[in-house]
Amino acid sequence: MAAYEYETHNYDVVVVGAGGSGLRATLGMAEQGLRTACVTKVFPTRSHTVAAQGGIAASLGNMGPDNWQWHMYDTVKGSDWLGDSDAMEYLAREAPKAVYELEHYGVPFSRTEEGKIYQRPFGGHTTEFGEGPPVQRTCAAADRTGHAILHTLYGQSLKHNAEFYIEYFAIDLIMSDDGQCQGVVCWKLDDGTMHVFNAKMVVLATGGYGRAYFSATSAHTCTGDGGGMVARAGLALQDMEFVQFHPTGIYGSGCLITEGARGEGGYLTNSEGERFMERYAPTYKDLASRDVVSRCMTMEIREGRGVGDEKDHIFLNLSHLPPEALAERLPGISESAKIFAGVDVTKEPIPVLPTVHYNMGGIPTNYHGEVINPDADNPDAIVPGLMAVGEAGCASVHGANRLGSNSLIDLVVFGRAAALRAGQVVDPTASNPDIPKAKIDAIFDRFDKVRYADGTVPTAELRLEMQRTMQADAAVFRTDKTLAEGVEKMKAVAAKLDDLKVTDRSLIWNSDLMETLELENLMPNALATIVGAEARKESRGAHAHEDYPDRDDESWRKHSIMHLEGNEVKLTYRPVHLDPLTAEDAGGIKLAKIAPKKRVY
Ligand SMILES: Cc1cc2nc3c(=O)[nH]c(=O)nc-3n(C[C@H](O)[C@H](O)[C@H](O)COP(=O)(O)OP(=O)(O)OC[C@H]3O[C@@H](n4cnc5c(N)ncnc54)[C@H](O)[C@@H]3O)c2cc1C
Repeated sequence: MAAYEYETHNYDVVVVGAGGSGLRATLGMAEQGLRTACVTKVFPTRSHTVAAQGGIAASLGNMGPDNWQWHMYDTVKGSDWLGDSDAMEYLAREAPKAVYELEHYGVPFSRTEEGKIYQRPFGGHTTEFGEGPPVQRTCAAADRTGHAILHTLYGQSLKHNAEFYIEYFAIDLIMSDDGQCQGVVCWKLDDGTMHVFNAKMVVLATGGYGRAYFSATSAHTCTGDGGGMVARAGLALQDMEFVQFHPTGIYGSGCLITEGARGEGGYLTNSEGERFMERYAPTYKDLASRDVVSRCMTMEIREGRGVGDEKDHIFLNLSHLPPEALAERLPGISESAKIFAGVDVTKEPIPVLPTVHYNMGGIPTNYHGEVINPDADNPDAIVPGLMAVGEAGCASVHGANRLGSNSLIDLVVFGRAAALRAGQVVDPTASNPDIPKAKIDAIFDRFDKVRYADGTVPTAELRLEMQRTMQADAAVFRTDKTLAEGVEKMKAVAAKLDDLKVTDRSLIWNSDLMETLELENLMPNALATIVGAEARKESRGAHAHEDYPDRDDESWRKHSIMHLEGNEVKLTYRPVHLDPLTAEDAGGIKLAKIAPKKRVY
């Protein structure tokens, strides 16, 4: 039986995560007059958001005509008609305001000659409801946009009265017997003390789970901790089968080369020197959406037109661009190409390969950030006291495929939306919930099970096995056979969690223990991904099923809902919100539904 001393902290709101979404939520909550704490396992400005390069989408129209309804249309089409229309409308409508707000907070955006925010083209962003030419909608601070945004938001959060708990690892959610979230238990990594955060609202902003795969552009900290906590609490995950492969990870290291490189005029070639995207996507070519470009690259490689000795990758060409433009607009990736591929981008092409980049699925929420746990009576049932934002959440604005630069805008729009909602539903004068000690002890019991794990399999070995299985069997292209085998293999991999060996038992800077807790979080995310993929008998967005090459709206235009019972994934489905915002919520105008079409670029 676990016995840990712990310190209790009472807040109105606890935000777990200090990436773009967590910081935007934190500062918004503080602005609402709520006593707010932000807990983070890494220093805020080391969150993965810092690595975002290309930019943030908003229809400012600084570089030519644009409007938010075109942005909404592109997002709906990009999602392959799986996103929720109300949330996608909210995103596109609020985006310009959110970017101007960032500008006023101090984000050092690149500028046009006239001094306006510079915007570049990005894949899938077009004009005239997908009928017109590509649009320049992606606002950029050179190719270090996430860095600029994250540092600015951290500064702003400090200015407000939010309190930071840095290098605290959130272990599990505290859930009352009637299903309300009442706080979160954390382990302080540098001194080994335990902390109970008692709160009226917990916001999960823990980022994605890219590290469930072997080759990913995301940081090693992207281990889906929020999804793991939610799954253990018996709550739902949604649309986990949709995993985005970015077309241009550097071959070998997986380090990202932003889509902005193609936005600035870069293009892909095969072993014949052919600019092959012209064949697959005659209108938008290299700026088709990511799922499409990743599939085309994979097909070129499969058909023997890959480059390199093994003919197993593709070239990204930038050397035709003026060196000054590369230095001004793409300095970061020029450096990455040098370090990770030994390539001088002004002279040679960069070797690239589709690499796991983003999780469209996550913790289901409505467009206010409130977590949903669908039940038999209500597909939109809210979990009181719990919100999720950013890549950890699934609002769902990205549906089956996210457009480039739509994540950074999702972070700030929904971080802010969550704060506005909390301002309405959290009563700062009410007292904090009473938490029975047994609830906390149960969380420490699981922690101890991991801490004292004395089986035969080292954490790093099991993690690698999981990553290789996911990489091989839940890949860009999927078949009934690979998925069925993958599900069986993943079940066997997950079963080995019971046989883990943790060698270090201390509580101070114990990376062995932390990585094991992270592996326990990655596993339910990975299981839900592959089980959801196996069940979905169609192709939609990032889920390209070779045995069912077409989208099937009749049977499959619905969200997958995953509940975990141990290592078993229980699948149900939930309707997609087809209706845009109500006239009342949209300031008077009710848009028409956007009818599904074949998705061509
Ligand atoms: C290389 C790269 C480039 C990208 N470029 C772009 C781009 O140009 N445009 C775009 O729109 N999108 C881009 N994306 C996607 C986008 O950057 C991410 O989706 C987004 O930054 C995720 O932000 P977040 O706030 O959800 O989480 P993150 O920034 O990942 O932050 C997660 C936070 O949660 C905390 N945390 C996690 N688990 C715990 C725990 N157990 N206890 C305590 N704290 C915890 C971490 O400490 C961290 O602070 C890019 C992604 C990558 C990987």
